Amino acid sequence: MDDFSVQRKQMVERQIAARGVCDSLVLAAMKNVPRECFVLERWRDHAYEDRPLPVALGQTISQPFIVALMIEALGLQGGEKVLDVGTGSGYAAAVLSKIAAEVYSVERLSDLVAYARERFQSQRYDNIHQLQGDGSLGWPEHAPYDAIVVAAAGPDVPEPLREQLTLGGRLVMPLGSAGRIQMLVRETRRGEDRFKRDALGEVGFVPLIGAEAWHENNN
Ligand code: SAH
Repeated sequence: MDDFSVQRKQMVERQIAARGVCDSLVLAAMKNVPRECFVLERWRDHAYEDRPLPVALGQTISQPFIVALMIEALGLQGGEKVLDVGTGSGYAAAVLSKIAAEVYSVERLSDLVAYARERFQSQRYDNIHQLQGDGSLGWPEHAPYDAIVVAAAGPDVPEPLREQLTLGGRLVMPLGSAGRIQMLVRETRRGEDRFKRDALGEVGFVPLIGAEAWHENNN
């Protein structure tokens, strides 16, 4: 095993499984995705630390434990269609792609779309589909989704995302504003207009900026 594989295995054991994430699909996926390839070159030696890291344009690659917690909360069995809002580095989409059948990933900043695309292509993540645009509107062309994960905090769950969930589908997203403590929530679609909400804990994310979210310079 190379040094990064050893660090990756330790990350899964010490930062993720030890804190209570036990879904074997999530643990296996996180053992499989080379996080060092998704961070900026100069941060490679820090890739397996227990924290978020800067990517570009003030955005971050989330802390590994938080990625695991969010994906576990989606309750995937394998084979689903998943929408990932806020591609960022592409790391969470890569983890999802090891579990789901198809991953649709939306990012508003074109430089990050390109950053993630390079990595998906060189590592052959062929089941990840990318869109540059406002993910607070979802990606209606491919809806409905079995699961939706949003990696940026908004004032509330955007209505278009609710509408793009299958019946029984789950959405996980942080609610709140930048720089403040936010609440990670899961909504499960129980009926046409019926959603059950669970609170999963306090988190800190960059703002979701879009038509159904915060407006730029005002979050
Ligand atoms: N999942 C990422 C972390 C993303 S950080 C990873 O694993 O690295 C949140 C990302 O959401 C940022 O890249 C930010 O540009 C993006 N974002 C913010 N508002 C958005 C919106 N309305 N639509 C799509 N992406 C958005």
